[in-house]
Amino acid sequence: MVLKIRQAGEPVLRQKARPLSTDEILNRSTQELIEAMRETMHDAPGVGLAAPQVGFSLQLVVIEDQAEFIQKLPAEQVAERERSPVPFHVLINPKLTRLGSEDAEFFEGCLSVAGFTAVVPRAKQVRVQGFNEKAEPVVIDATGWYARILQHEIDHLGGVLYVDRMKSRTFFTQDNYGRHWKDRSIAEATGYDE
Ligand code: ZN
Repeated sequence: MVLKIRQAGEPVLRQKARPLSTDEILNRSTQELIEAMRETMHDAPGVGLAAPQVGFSLQLVVIEDQAEFIQKLPAEQVAERERSPVPFHVLINPKLTRLGSEDAEFFEGCLSVAGFTAVVPRAKQVRVQGFNEKAEPVVIDATGWYARILQHEIDHLGGVLYVDRMKSRTFFTQDNYGRHWKDRSIAEATGYDE
Protein backbone atom coordinates (compact mmCIF):
# COMPACT_ATOMS: atom_id res chain seq x y z
CA MET A 1 0.00 0.00 0.00
CA VAL A 2 1.34 3.40 -0.98
CA LEU A 3 0.95 5.90 1.87
CA LYS A 4 0.50 9.64 1.63
CA ILE A 5 3.77 11.50 2.16
CA ARG A 6 3.32 14.42 4.55
CA GLN A 7 4.66 17.81 3.47
CA ALA A 8 6.52 20.48 5.47
CA GLY A 9 4.06 22.21 7.77
CA GLU A 10 2.45 18.98 8.99
CA PRO A 11 3.05 18.94 12.78
CA VAL A 12 4.10 15.25 12.78
CA LEU A 13 7.26 16.21 10.87
CA ARG A 14 8.34 18.42 13.79
CA GLN A 15 7.62 15.99 16.63
CA LYS A 16 10.24 13.82 18.28
CA ALA A 17 9.35 10.26 17.29
CA ARG A 18 9.08 7.68 20.06
CA PRO A 19 11.11 4.45 20.21
CA LEU A 20 9.51 1.04 19.63
CA SER A 21 9.66 -1.82 22.14
CA THR A 22 10.83 -5.26 21.00
CA ASP A 23 7.23 -6.53 21.07
CA GLU A 24 6.07 -3.56 19.03
CA ILE A 25 8.80 -4.12 16.43
CA LEU A 26 7.64 -7.70 15.94
CA ASN A 27 3.90 -7.09 15.95
CA ARG A 28 1.88 -7.30 12.81
CA SER A 29 0.96 -3.63 12.52
CA THR A 30 4.63 -2.57 12.57
CA GLN A 31 5.55 -5.24 10.01
CA GLU A 32 2.73 -4.00 7.78
CA LEU A 33 3.87 -0.40 8.22
CA ILE A 34 7.42 -1.40 7.16
CA GLU A 35 6.07 -3.06 4.00
CA ALA A 36 3.89 -0.03 3.22
CA MET A 37 6.88 2.30 3.75
CA ARG A 38 8.97 0.18 1.38
CA GLU A 39 6.27 0.43 -1.29
CA THR A 40 5.86 4.17 -0.68
CA MET A 41 9.62 4.78 -0.98
CA HIS A 42 9.75 2.83 -4.26
CA ASP A 43 6.71 4.61 -5.63
CA ALA A 44 8.04 8.11 -4.81
CA PRO A 45 10.83 7.16 -5.74
CA GLY A 46 13.27 7.89 -2.94
CA VAL A 47 16.33 6.43 -1.22
CA GLY A 48 14.94 6.66 2.30
CA LEU A 49 11.71 7.25 4.20
CA ALA A 50 11.09 7.90 7.89
CA ALA A 51 7.85 6.92 9.66
CA PRO A 52 6.92 10.57 10.52
CA GLN A 53 6.84 11.29 6.78
CA VAL A 54 3.86 8.96 6.47
CA GLY A 55 2.22 10.23 9.64
CA PHE A 56 3.59 7.85 12.30
CA SER A 57 5.68 9.43 15.07
CA LEU A 58 7.82 6.30 15.52
CA GLN A 59 11.60 5.77 15.38
CA LEU A 60 11.54 3.75 12.20
CA VAL A 61 13.18 4.36 8.82
CA VAL A 62 13.62 2.40 5.60
CA ILE A 63 16.57 2.92 3.24
CA GLU A 64 17.50 1.61 -0.19
CA ASP A 65 19.76 3.18 -2.82
CA GLN A 66 19.14 1.11 -5.93
CA ALA A 67 21.84 0.38 -8.51
CA GLU A 68 19.40 1.46 -11.23
CA PHE A 69 19.17 5.01 -9.76
CA ILE A 70 22.95 5.28 -9.64
CA GLN A 71 23.49 3.96 -13.18
CA LYS A 72 21.45 6.89 -14.55
CA LEU A 73 23.81 9.47 -13.01
CA PRO A 74 27.01 10.82 -14.58
CA ALA A 75 30.01 8.76 -13.38
CA GLU A 76 31.76 11.90 -12.12
CA GLN A 77 28.80 12.79 -9.90
CA VAL A 78 28.64 9.26 -8.49
CA ALA A 79 32.37 9.34 -7.71
CA GLU A 80 32.43 12.72 -5.98
CA ARG A 81 29.36 11.85 -3.89
CA GLU A 82 30.86 8.46 -3.03
CA ARG A 83 27.55 6.88 -3.94
CA SER A 84 27.17 3.12 -4.25
CA PRO A 85 24.13 0.82 -4.02
CA VAL A 86 22.64 0.16 -0.59
CA PRO A 87 20.29 -2.84 -0.28
CA PHE A 88 16.88 -2.37 1.31
CA HIS A 89 17.03 -2.30 5.08
CA VAL A 90 15.10 -1.13 8.11
CA LEU A 91 16.44 0.84 11.07
CA ILE A 92 14.58 1.15 14.35
CA ASN A 93 15.50 3.29 17.39
CA PRO A 94 18.76 4.40 15.71
CA LYS A 95 21.52 6.32 17.48
CA LEU A 96 23.89 8.18 15.20
CA THR A 97 27.43 9.31 15.97
CA ARG A 98 29.76 11.06 13.60
CA LEU A 99 33.15 9.50 12.87
CA GLY A 100 35.94 11.93 12.09
CA SER A 101 35.60 15.65 11.60
CA GLU A 102 35.28 15.83 7.81
CA ASP A 103 32.15 17.32 6.25
CA ALA A 104 30.81 17.03 2.73
CA GLU A 105 28.54 19.58 1.01
CA PHE A 106 26.10 18.50 -1.66
CA PHE A 107 22.59 19.29 -2.86
CA GLU A 108 19.95 17.07 -1.31
CA GLY A 109 16.19 16.94 -1.36
CA CYS A 110 13.37 15.50 0.73
CA LEU A 111 10.08 13.84 -0.22
CA SER A 112 8.45 16.05 2.45
CA VAL A 113 9.80 19.27 0.89
CA ALA A 114 8.68 18.28 -2.59
CA GLY A 115 10.05 20.23 -5.53
CA PHE A 116 13.01 21.83 -3.76
CA THR A 117 16.69 21.17 -3.12
CA ALA A 118 19.56 22.83 -1.24
CA VAL A 119 23.19 22.37 -0.25
CA VAL A 120 23.45 20.65 3.13
CA PRO A 121 26.72 20.10 4.99
CA ARG A 122 26.83 16.60 6.52
CA ALA A 123 29.42 14.45 8.27
CA LYS A 124 31.30 12.33 5.74
CA GLN A 125 31.39 9.30 7.97
CA VAL A 126 28.96 8.09 10.64
CA ARG A 127 28.17 5.10 12.83
CA VAL A 128 24.58 4.08 13.53
CA GLN A 129 23.47 1.63 16.20
CA GLY A 130 19.91 0.40 16.25
CA PHE A 131 17.69 -2.57 15.50
CA ASN A 132 16.41 -4.23 12.35
CA GLU A 133 12.84 -5.40 11.63
CA LYS A 134 13.53 -8.65 13.54
CA ALA A 135 14.49 -6.59 16.62
CA GLU A 136 18.11 -7.71 16.22
CA PRO A 137 20.79 -5.16 17.09
CA VAL A 138 22.69 -3.70 14.14
CA VAL A 139 25.74 -1.45 13.82
CA ILE A 140 26.40 0.36 10.56
CA ASP A 141 29.53 2.28 9.62
CA ALA A 142 28.85 4.39 6.56
CA THR A 143 30.67 6.92 4.41
CA GLY A 144 29.75 9.14 1.49
CA TRP A 145 26.20 9.25 0.17
CA TYR A 146 24.99 6.42 2.43
CA ALA A 147 26.20 8.40 5.46
CA ARG A 148 24.20 11.38 4.14
CA ILE A 149 21.04 9.30 3.73
CA LEU A 150 21.38 7.99 7.30
CA GLN A 151 21.82 11.50 8.72
CA HIS A 152 18.87 12.82 6.72
CA GLU A 153 16.50 10.00 7.73
CA ILE A 154 17.53 9.93 11.39
CA ASP A 155 17.06 13.72 11.52
CA HIS A 156 13.38 13.10 10.65
CA LEU A 157 13.01 11.09 13.87
CA GLY A 158 14.09 14.14 15.87
CA GLY A 159 11.70 16.45 14.03
CA VAL A 160 14.53 17.96 11.98
CA LEU A 161 14.29 18.73 8.24
CA TYR A 162 17.20 19.48 5.93
CA VAL A 163 16.02 23.09 5.71
CA ASP A 164 17.25 23.47 9.33
CA ARG A 165 20.79 22.60 8.22
CA MET A 166 20.95 23.89 4.65
CA LYS A 167 22.90 26.81 3.23
CA SER A 168 19.76 28.86 2.80
CA ARG A 169 20.92 30.82 -0.25
CA THR A 170 21.11 27.52 -2.13
CA PHE A 171 17.43 26.70 -1.54
CA PHE A 172 16.29 26.24 -5.13
CA THR A 173 13.37 24.65 -6.92
CA GLN A 174 14.34 21.34 -8.52
CA ASP A 175 13.50 22.96 -11.87
CA ASN A 176 15.90 25.85 -11.36
CA TYR A 177 18.56 23.53 -10.00
CA GLY A 178 18.32 21.57 -13.25
CA ARG A 179 18.25 24.74 -15.31
CA HIS A 180 21.13 26.67 -13.71
CA TRP A 181 23.17 24.70 -11.17
CA LYS A 182 23.24 21.01 -12.00
CA ASP A 183 26.59 21.19 -13.79
CA ARG A 184 28.19 23.88 -11.64
CA SER A 185 30.30 23.40 -8.55
CA ILE A 186 28.94 23.54 -5.01
CA ALA A 187 31.30 26.49 -4.45
CA GLU A 188 29.59 28.40 -7.27
CA ALA A 189 26.15 27.64 -5.88
CA THR A 190 26.97 28.60 -2.30
CA GLY A 191 28.87 31.73 -3.39
CA TYR A 192 26.66 32.96 -6.19
CA ASP A 193 26.18 36.33 -4.52
CA GLU A 194 29.90 37.13 -4.55
ZN1 ZN B 1 13.41 13.71 4.11
